[in-house]
Amino acid sequence: MSNPDSGISDLPHLSHSRLQKYITCPEQYRLYYLERLRPKQEAAARVFGAVMHLALAEYFRKERDPLATFREEWTACQKFQLRYSQRESWQKLNQIGEALLQEFLAEEARKFEQVFAVEAKFHIGASNVAAPLVGTLDLVAQLEGKRTLVQDWGQRLGGARCAPLRPAHRLSSGGTGGGADCDLRVGKKARAANHLAFTERTPEQQVEYLRKMEIVSLQITDRVFYKRVGFWCRQCEFLPVCTRNEKKVRETLVRIG
Ligand code: SF4
Repeated sequence: MSNPDSGISDLPHLSHSRLQKYITCPEQYRLYYLERLRPKQEAAARVFGAVMHLALAEYFRKERDPLATFREEWTACQKFQLRYSQRESWQKLNQIGEALLQEFLAEEARKFEQVFAVEAKFHIGASNVAAPLVGTLDLVAQLEGKRTLVQDWGQRLGGARCAPLRPAHRLSSGGTGGGADCDLRVGKKARAANHLAFTERTPEQQVEYLRKMEIVSLQITDRVFYKRVGFWCRQCEFLPVCTRNEKKVRETLVRIG
């Protein structure tokens, strides 16, 4: 167990994924970051998201065909034991990846006129927040005449399938930059054009984001952790902990060092 007095060191930094996890469920945050519990088998959707992320990054970094990268990497994943949900399979995710990337190449890729950076790290300190916000912008590019920040699309590709959050629970990422955000998500219909959404963040929304950061960082520092039960529990890897199914905990989870 973590030292109960070590609140500040429990929060070395904030990141978009830490914020998302806390807002989804504070207990999920605690089990993941403080108890350091991890699933023995990685979720297939998460690995799929990482492969999509890599395919897009290689495309923007080296102009490598994203379909070639995706096929190579996702085929290699066949030999690993991944955790598929009831509605997922390697083949289904393969079809989704192929369809999304084909559509991306046909309709979206040409909109990116100039690439300034791929996987650019950032570190922002805010006076109202106990810990700095760190993260990576997957892409900084000129898109249809506008300098645009693309944040974390690979993770969203996977994450959206793992645990879709209701709009009210999703954090805007607009506080991290002055441009527009591009949010590529996988929904029921896996069409890139349907899920490539651009949102201008107003100054008010940026202030709101900073306020959310402040509240979440204070809650974590004060060790305010509680179960936020909802539809996302069905896909939460920590469900056996919450339902006290110790056999399943032993079978499915491991504590990392
Ligand atoms: S099962 Fe539900 S309540 Fe428990 S940690 Fe996961 S999201 Fe939170």
